[in-house]
Parts: sequence; structure tokens; C-alpha cells
Amino acid sequence: MNINSVNAYACKLRLLYKQALPCAEANGECGTSVEWQNIFLNFIFVSFHLKCFYSSSQRHGYCTLGEAFNRLDFSSAIQDIRRFNYVVKLLQLIAKSQLTSLSGAAQKNYFNILDKIVRKVMEDQYNPRLIKDLLQDLSSTLCILIRGVGKSVLVGNINIWICRLETILLWQQQLKNLQMNKQVNNGLTLSDLPLHMLNNILYRFSDGWDIITLGQVTPTLYMLSEDRQLWKKLCQYHFAEKQFCRHLIPSEKGHIDWKLMYFALQKYYPIKEQYGDTLHFCRHCSILFWKDTGHPCTASDPDTCLMPVSPQHFIDLFKF
Ligand SMILES: [Zn+2]
Repeated sequence: MNINSVNAYACKLRLLYKQALPCAEANGECGTSVEWQNIFLNFIFVSFHLKCFYSSSQRHGYCTLGEAFNRLDFSSAIQDIRRFNYVVKLLQLIAKSQLTSLSGAAQKNYFNILDKIVRKVMEDQYNPRLIKDLLQDLSSTLCILIRGVGKSVLVGNINIWICRLETILLWQQQLKNLQMNKQVNNGLTLSDLPLHMLNNILYRFSDGWDIITLGQVTPTLYMLSEDRQLWKKLCQYHFAEKQFCRHLIPSEKGHIDWKLMYFALQKYYPIKEQYGDTLHFCRHCSILFWKDTGHPCTASDPDTCLMPVSPQHFIDLFKF
């Protein structure tokens, strides 16, 4: 059954329902009328969901989040430094709210990718904070789901989930004990750069925690990382002026404490997300693809058909 036949059946049934109603009433068959009404309402309900299902899957070529997740090859994407943060964020959003919607195969794929991410972070020590946040969210969700087994729909055997939770706790412990290797380099180092260049680097960070972490490297970087203007710019980049006014935090000197403001505002409003490479959707070809890889577009003006897909938007594509 496709979307056209769903529409055709709905029209036919509506006509039959209208024809049957006066006859049933005239014959005093109230029960028949109610039965017809129920059938009709049920059909509308099913056709609505089928419409959602078909229009959604036709929109981007995938029927479920799990299917898209399996076929878009996120496993290779994590090897690309420009896509790594995007995939981690997507896994984190799934951990927070979509874990129970994954099929058995999609769960297996999810945990395989997670395993690769953890191994990668342990090996090259790239952005462990990001993966620590993801594991924290995942373990919290799993604890709730396992405790409430029977009340929630958790696909798969409970013992498999307990095993997965144990693995996550082990990974968390390993990441906690992760020691950063000291780079032995006799050439130019970060602290050899002039002040204005160091300042320039700090102004390019879009994440407050990255600024704080860099500030812990040397006393000079700490001094630069505490600059009020730097935090003010960061607040202005992520939040609107209206949002500042609602959560003003004055410092002891009577100034606005922009650093505290940044972390306070982050709790109330989402920050702007930045990724080296993001998935894009082409409205003309109805296809999801990585921007850097592109796709063989048949549109006359491809640029007008492209739409960036944030990790949250990616998940929303599969919500009916
Ligand atoms: Zn296209």
C-alpha cells in the first residue's frame, strides 16, 4: 500500500460511510451507525500514521532513526576529525531520549560506534570531555530504564542491557584515569607565541570549557582566559540580549560577571552548535549526505536546495 492508495481508500470509505448513515438511521440500526463510525475513525487514524510514515520516509529515504543510523556509516565518520563532534552529539541526544526507539540491530550498531569512539579517545586523547558527557547521559538513562524494566519499552534482553551498563561504567573509569601524554617537542610551543596571537586563539573558541581548560596550561594563558571582554563576546555569540537581561549577574566590583553569566545562561538556553562538517539534506534529491562529501545533485541550482541538519534536527526527522 502506498500513499496514493491510502488516500483513495479514505475517499471511498468516507463515501460509503455517508451513504450508510441515513439508511441505518432510517432502519433504526443505531448500532450499525456506531460501528461504521468506529471503522471510519480507525481508518483515519491508520491512514494518518501511514501518511506520516510515507511522507517522512520519502523525505529523506529512511523509515526509522535506526535505519538511517545504520546506513549513514557513522562508524567511518568518527575517523574524520571534522565529523567526530557531530556523531558524538548525535549519540548523546539518542542516549537522552531515543534509546528505546532503536531496533536490536540499531542498538548493536550504536554500541559498536560508541566502542570505537572510546578506543579512539583513549588512543589519541582527542576531546575526552565530550565523550565523558555522553557516557554520563547514557549511564543515567540506562539506570532509569533498567530500574523501571517492565514499565518502559526496552528492546532486548535485560541481561544484555546490564552488561552494556557495566561496560559503560568501566569506560567511565578508564577515561577518569586517562593520563595525557606530555608532548616532547623541541620546536615552537604554544607558550612561545606572542600575547596577541594567544589572545586570538582564545577568541576563536566557542565553548567556555575549552577556554577554561586552555587557561590551565600556563599562567599567561590563565590571565588571558579570565578577560571579561572574552567572556562577553562569548555570551554575545551564543545568546540574545533579551536573555542577558533576565539573568544579569553582577561581580563584587559592580561589573557584570560575563564568565558566570555564560555558564548560567547555558543552563536556560541552548548554545550555538559548531561542527567542522554536518549532515545536509537536499530538498530536490531527498537525500541526506555529509557536506564535505557532497552528492551528485540534479537540481539546476543545488545551493538553494541544501539545508544543514543539526544532530537534534536529524532526530526530529524521525518523530511522527
Ligand atoms: Zn540534490
